[in-house]
Amino acid sequence: MTVALQTLLDKSVKKMGTGMNPVVKASALEMMERAYNEGIYVQISAGHRSLEEQAALYGQGRVYSYNGKNYSNLAKPNVTNAKPGQSYHNFGLAIDFFTVSDDGKNANWTVNSKWQRVAAIGKDLGFKWGGDWSSFKDYPHLEMTGGLSYSQLQAGKEPQLTFKFEKTDIPKISKGATHIISMQKTLNSRYKAAISVDGFYGPETRSALIKALQTELNKQFNKKLAVDGKWGPKTKTALVTVKKGAAGNITWILQAALYMEGFNPGPLDAEFGENTEMALFKYQKASKISADKQAGKETWNELFA
Ligand SMILES: [Zn+2]
Repeated sequence: MTVALQTLLDKSVKKMGTGMNPVVKASALEMMERAYNEGIYVQISAGHRSLEEQAALYGQGRVYSYNGKNYSNLAKPNVTNAKPGQSYHNFGLAIDFFTVSDDGKNANWTVNSKWQRVAAIGKDLGFKWGGDWSSFKDYPHLEMTGGLSYSQLQAGKEPQLTFKFEKTDIPKISKGATHIISMQKTLNSRYKAAISVDGFYGPETRSALIKALQTELNKQFNKKLAVDGKWGPKTKTALVTVKKGAAGNITWILQAALYMEGFNPGPLDAEFGENTEMALFKYQKASKISADKQAGKETWNELFA
């Protein structure tokens, strides 16, 4: 039996991990779907890789320590020349792919015509292919750099990537693009977020939502938080509990965050009523945190940490 597309997508989403750039992630899934429709079955073997994971990879076949920790692993072969921060994988901008047999049971690592075709589809979607490199060919590797160097990315510069395909496909991985678009507009108008209105819940929108919460905590509770969109210790201690009967911008932020996690609180009306309570309850259950129907520290941390 032919492997189902959803099976391949699910495995690949898991392998890519969190921390992927949303455009890279969605484009990778789009590439898989296009290949699938041509009878080529693709899986992603790697996506985002933390600096520590990169150190462990670099330590294979050599003596190496990073941040005071020993990563030498001489039992394994040398697999990369990229130190931590020197791979686009470290910034969620690269993926590695391979093809599988029709039943999805066997991996194929031979660079044949099907493999070449996948790379071509990837390039159509805006990826650069490691198979095109002149010095060292990396056939499974696809990346989007946004024209940024490793050092620019390490300095925190955000790549401006755009989708090369119709965004009607996006809800595949972010439920309900139109709601997200209206939230992004609100974040821009109410909090001057200046984020792209693309119907996609990625790091940019998440950080704008955190900034909105920091702004409200400062304004309403006289906290003196840096409005930096980062989920740091100061923000964590400044959190307030929101429960049924509450109304206002913090409730709106809670509703938006729940929506992003796939739990629909009904209209984003900034009022903590039945629908919001039910969505929160379901979210708490699903997240295996105390299901007390109140958004306290535990819930906020689950939503944003
Ligand atoms: Zn790679």
